[in-house]
Amino acid sequence: MNIENYLSDFIAAQHQKDPAQKVFHQAVEEVVNTLKPVLERKDVYIKEKILERMVEPERIIIFRVPWADDKGEIHVNRGFRVQFNSALGPYKGGIRFHSSVTQDSLKFLAFEQTFKNSLTTLPLGGGKGGSDFDTRGKSDGEVMRFCHSFINELYHHIGYHTDIPAGDLGCGPREIGYMFGQYKKLTNDFTGAFTGKKPNWGGSLLRPEATGYGVAYFAQNMLSTRNDSLEGKTAIVSGTGNVGIYAMEKLSQLGAKVVGFMDYDGSIYDPDGINEEKIAFLKQLVFKRRGSLKEYNKTFKHAKFRLGQKTWDIPCDVACPTACENELDEKDAALLLKNGCKCVCEGSNMPCTPSAIYAFQQAGILYSPGKASNAGGVAVSGLEMTQNSMRIYWTREEVDQYLKRIMNSIHNSCLSHAEEYGLKGNYMAGANIAGFIKVADSMLDQGLV
Ligand code: GLU
Repeated sequence: MNIENYLSDFIAAQHQKDPAQKVFHQAVEEVVNTLKPVLERKDVYIKEKILERMVEPERIIIFRVPWADDKGEIHVNRGFRVQFNSALGPYKGGIRFHSSVTQDSLKFLAFEQTFKNSLTTLPLGGGKGGSDFDTRGKSDGEVMRFCHSFINELYHHIGYHTDIPAGDLGCGPREIGYMFGQYKKLTNDFTGAFTGKKPNWGGSLLRPEATGYGVAYFAQNMLSTRNDSLEGKTAIVSGTGNVGIYAMEKLSQLGAKVVGFMDYDGSIYDPDGINEEKIAFLKQLVFKRRGSLKEYNKTFKHAKFRLGQKTWDIPCDVACPTACENELDEKDAALLLKNGCKCVCEGSNMPCTPSAIYAFQQAGILYSPGKASNAGGVAVSGLEMTQNSMRIYWTREEVDQYLKRIMNSIHNSCLSHAEEYGLKGNYMAGANIAGFIKVADSMLDQGLV
């Protein structure tokens, strides 16, 4: 069989089935386009229609989420949970609360999650959920009523051996707390059915930091393959959510100077670089006050706030996009390359467009896909599940050791799989191939289900 024809027919059939699901197709194509050497070696994947089975979620739950605002007015949002693949373990993945949430975006995220979770070395299937509900501008009471209503339906479909949600964009410890509380009320069961819980009621130490720290560890690992390190490097991080702030913290602890970052309103250029005091300010601003970066340069005078502007024109050695999908396009990639960027380490899910990735690969700089370099968060979620099952807490240091070990293992697995299939140094191909083989072989073992 001609594998190239098989793959292009496969992609065309996917588009025909769901023509509107643009980001889902983008994620599928990125994976499928790197699998040719794998399918050439093992045609049982083709005979057993593994790709066709893998792109079809095992189940999608869609439901109504009615809630009342502080004035008593009623609103109706749409809730989703995409239970994509359970070949490796119970469905695992975050909940996104944002006005951009659609079935398409959650299918893309759950598909990515399946590969990411496969790379973590832990027994985790892939899933994702959420709602087109925006937490920005809502009171605590409104968020609580919404979360309770969301769980009034979702609790039927999740559980610590079935599906374990966690946080994502717009869904942090506050939302996890409200959802967990309602889940416990309805099931009368205190189990680790959610991760990202606060440590006083079952959460793992270092879970909030894990995704961001993992990104910095991964960037360090990538640079070490070129006998280089983060020491003295200039870095840019795009988002200033949970991932971005902790990525900045660890990058600077490892010796990098973080000079740029951004949020919904614009970006900051801080030529002095961030330090402990500035990180503490950002944590207060973002996590406690849910404020805007517009306030940053009022406190730190050398910094400049750039209304509505991205960060990628600021010269840097290391770039970590940690905001949302497709935030970094080919124009941004050209700016980064022109300014001498050596390493792009994705902290969010699919932040670089295909043409930006192509530009990085053509230029021969280090580039890692989010499903590898941002897997630290879900990995520590897996460790949170282990601690909950054992009914113990590990120390910060113990969790950090595991996190480092897992990030090393993901890094090495990307490199070894890329090399084994003739694509040396290509982290994207290595991540897709390693993630795919483990899921595909497990699906074959479990028969046609
Ligand atoms: N939402 C995070 C991710 O994209 C974390 C998922 C989890 O901890 O289950 O990987």
